Amino acid sequence: MDSLFHFVFSIIAAFALDLHKKHKLEFVIFAAMFAVAIDFDHFLFLDPNYIKPLHNLFVAVLLPLVLFYLAYRFERNKRPRTTELQKFALVLMAMLTGHLVADMFYGDIKLFYPLSTSSSSFMDLPLPTAPEKYDFISTQGVAMLFYSIILLFIYFAEDFIKWHEEKHESVGKSIRDVVKDLV
Ligand SMILES: [Zn+2]
Repeated sequence: MDSLFHFVFSIIAAFALDLHKKHKLEFVIFAAMFAVAIDFDHFLFLDPNYIKPLHNLFVAVLLPLVLFYLAYRFERNKRPRTTELQKFALVLMAMLTGHLVADMFYGDIKLFYPLSTSSSSFMDLPLPTAPEKYDFISTQGVAMLFYSIILLFIYFAEDFIKWHEEKHESVGKSIRDVVKDLV
């Protein structure tokens, strides 16, 4: 998918989840811009296999988790209490992961690069892809479902941090409470 798609859909998801009301508008714009920034590697033209070094789970998931932990350490002793940076890191993780999923709609993404160069794409699913005739479920629909679920993660991330903030408990206990609240 092109960079404009990633930016627009990240913004739409953020607005649908009311992020622009809970945070400043800049929060949403910055997160969406960071989520698009990994497309910078399209301009690197690194090798004949078209490896995109920023399009992988280490950048999309691991890096935001490290940022989340650093933000947690930084914000936990602040008065008045704030969790904006922690939320930003989790929103960023959802948007970056959504970016990878969207790029897998039609293209191949090496999810575990540099550890592995095997590619993943929704086009590999054993589902119909041709848009000419009607299909109840197609590759594009399933891909869009994945994309929506990942962006919905933002909602649960916010919920998780709220619980954690209110209870001042360990992260493990907070996770259990959130799960209990959902079921
Ligand atoms: Zn991309």
